Amino acid sequence: MELREMPVKQMNKIGQKISAKLKKLGILSVLDLIYHFPCRYEDFSQIKNIADLKAGEIATIKGKIELLSNKRSFKKRMVITECFVSDSTGSISAVWFNQQFIARVLKNNDEIYLSGKVGGDLFSIFFQNPVYEKVSKQTTHTARIVPIYALTEGISEKQIRFLIKLALDNYLNLITDWLPEKYLKQRNLASLSEAIKQIHFPKDQLSINNASRRLKFDELLKLHLLNLSAKKQAKAAISQPIAFNESQTKKIVGSLCFTLTDSQKKAAWRILQDMAARSPMNRLLQGDVGSGKTVVAALAIANAALSGKQSILLCPTEILATQHFFSLKNIFKTLKLNVALLTSGKKLVYHTTDAEPSQLNKLKLLKSIADGEIDLIIGTHALLQDKIRFGNLALIVIDEQHRFGVEQRMRLRKKISQTTKYTPHLLSMTATPIPRTLALTIYGDLDISIISELPPDRKKPITRLVPEEKRDEAYEFILQKIKEGRQAYVICPRIEESDCLSIKAAQMEYQKLAEEIFPQLKIGLLHGKLKSKEKNETLSQFLQGKIDILVATSVVEVGINVPNASIMIIESAERFGLAQLHQFRGRVNRSFHQSHCLLFTQRNFCAESSGNNSEKTLTRLNTLVNCYDGFKLTEEDLKQRGFGNLFGTEQTGFFSQLKIANLAETDLVEETKYAALELFEANPQILNVINNGYFFHPE
Ligand code: ADP
Ligand code: MG
Repeated sequence: MELREMPVKQMNKIGQKISAKLKKLGILSVLDLIYHFPCRYEDFSQIKNIADLKAGEIATIKGKIELLSNKRSFKKRMVITECFVSDSTGSISAVWFNQQFIARVLKNNDEIYLSGKVGGDLFSIFFQNPVYEKVSKQTTHTARIVPIYALTEGISEKQIRFLIKLALDNYLNLITDWLPEKYLKQRNLASLSEAIKQIHFPKDQLSINNASRRLKFDELLKLHLLNLSAKKQAKAAISQPIAFNESQTKKIVGSLCFTLTDSQKKAAWRILQDMAARSPMNRLLQGDVGSGKTVVAALAIANAALSGKQSILLCPTEILATQHFFSLKNIFKTLKLNVALLTSGKKLVYHTTDAEPSQLNKLKLLKSIADGEIDLIIGTHALLQDKIRFGNLALIVIDEQHRFGVEQRMRLRKKISQTTKYTPHLLSMTATPIPRTLALTIYGDLDISIISELPPDRKKPITRLVPEEKRDEAYEFILQKIKEGRQAYVICPRIEESDCLSIKAAQMEYQKLAEEIFPQLKIGLLHGKLKSKEKNETLSQFLQGKIDILVATSVVEVGINVPNASIMIIESAERFGLAQLHQFRGRVNRSFHQSHCLLFTQRNFCAESSGNNSEKTLTRLNTLVNCYDGFKLTEEDLKQRGFGNLFGTEQTGFFSQLKIANLAETDLVEETKYAALELFEANPQILNVINNGYFFHPE
């Protein structure tokens, strides 16, 4: 049996209880356990003489137990285990609290190691709760560089170390290297099994470095190889060419109430060129929020429709889908198209010449889609689950694709190509712009276009970090702007532990604003758990100016477009990443009005968090105040908060498999990219063995 399929429960010493706890750490199989790498190390490798110990230091000693006993503490609430240990230079006491079993595990005269922090003062010193281990040739917990693992409640470092050691002792020999020996030699890489062994129980710092290099190399190499393979597969597929309809395209562009920016023109041109080919387009359109990606996508969709082919437009939320459904009508006004909205809430259709959309039952709509009568179907990823038959699907557009995740995109492409004869062209759009090297790695199977400029009429939002004592002044300012006819958003804190709490926070903020602060204004509330009917209702009222202030959870981050809203307040801004804050801010940079973004930190945030921490956060937020470049902010975010934070939990699976590699280490990312190409060219079969390792292709 493969280690990936072997449940940890099959291991000796792992029963129901422990396996349930391991599951919380994401450890299901023996392979998961082996690949549960330390998050850091504690260096207990230097053994000191007891006589040389000093209070405050972290040290390891080796000695003999002179006396070991359990006592009850003063109020009998606690058992104290006390032990005197001596070596040839002196003796020291060690105490443990509520660990009476230690007196059963250790005996007088045992030779042991103790590792930990030395407590006490100049006159007397002791170990408090040190790690102990009987002396042997191969120690696990002391007298070495000791691995420290991520834990969950009910599992101790010692336990997990023990289990991993057990797994390595029994199963490491089953791990075969997927890379040829010659290849490893050339690049000075350790063998896979040696690297795994050393990452857990390293000989010294050098072996940690070597092991981590090999393991990082592995992950990145596989990532690149997967990209190569996806690209190869995509190229091999056949799609329906969509001819560029120059005269109609010009007509659409001429009918807009603005001129396209050069970047928009260039991007549209590349896309239309891609779509004219027989092999499918696979393009990512990156552009800062508000850079006008929608109209570029609309041109692609229009050209598909003009050549008699269907498109679908996928959005991460129903709100956004609904908004696109209505706003695209304006862009398509010179054409005769049928556009459908297919969400769990609504099934609507309009012909571009209709005044109002009409409601359709689902079966009827599905039939029109199958008959090819509908030119564009707009929906959320629920569209992917439905078994929809398309009459003549030729183009898929994914909006805010970073919300979907790489796997979803791959799954989508696979699924669609199974149901249609031709592979559709794919256009992904994202407003989380990332540095090029990183983009080429994460989206390595895609070609990339960038809209690098904002429309010229935009005034950048004035961003301010508002101290708590100026809150009233800020409210005053908002009131004045609203009296001038503008509208405002209030973004509520995201509470990481639960969506429910985030919604509660929004409800409370809503109540406070509606009842205490702005009783004279109309306040609306928007969050993800509202019924889609309510959401649409609220949003359409906001769009029509019937709501002055919209209190919202982070749902507005993606794509909402209400040009008259020019004020944004973000509460507890310290909880969001820079890239996300920038996205929020993009919501109020949609017209010629000067817009404002006011950042509040959590009440008492500065007082409660330690000085250093709050200073860091303020510096971070000040970056936002001074910079309006999405690329720069994202890069900064990546540096400060890492990859996971940037892409959120939506990007689970594929990238969470990167256990050790860090995509911000661009040198290694580059090196492995070339290594992957070389390996692939010399040995195209290598793609078949990728899945044998830990890191595998999402299916
Ligand atoms: P995003 O790239 O964030 O999806 P949108 O496509 O929603 O941005 O565009 C934001 C706003 O800018 C919309 O109201 C759109 O009509 C407008 N817009 C798009 N392109 C231009 C342009 N070239 N000049 C002026 N306004 C534009
Ligand atoms: Mg958009």
